[in-house]
Amino acid sequence: MILISGCLVGLECRHDGSTEKDDDLLASLKGVNLLPFCPEQMGGLSTPRPSAEIIGGDGHDVLAHKARVIGEDGEDVTVPFVRGATESKKLVRLFNITSAYLKGKSPSCGLGTIFRNGHQVEGDGVCAALLSRNGIKITCV
Ligand code: SF4
Repeated sequence: MILISGCLVGLECRHDGSTEKDDDLLASLKGVNLLPFCPEQMGGLSTPRPSAEIIGGDGHDVLAHKARVIGEDGEDVTVPFVRGATESKKLVRLFNITSAYLKGKSPSCGLGTIFRNGHQVEGDGVCAALLSRNGIKITCV
């Protein structure tokens, strides 16, 4: 079984209530058991919700309490982002999952690149950071 960002399979879980369905990816994974998830929803955030960015670092810094996740409305959503990442870690443990396809550039799911101040910068999202440091092989799309 492979973990996959819910927005990539067509769930309308993005901050604006839209999806990022990737038909080519789904075709390439035909026959594979997929477990869709959305760490931001699992952390307790609503949909739609204000978009958010990591301020002061990346997901690793958030997990180390050195950076915060702030919504475009100014609300500090660090706690639900960390909760969603922690719940996601529970999922991979429960289902013995070792690999994941995650949506790129997200403050939760992004790996290698995230947005900060409207620009793409190097770094991992909060959930991607926690999963990768727990040995999950992540492919970011
Ligand atoms: S948190 Fe991840 S799964 Fe949820 S909408 Fe954002 S990129 Fe998609």
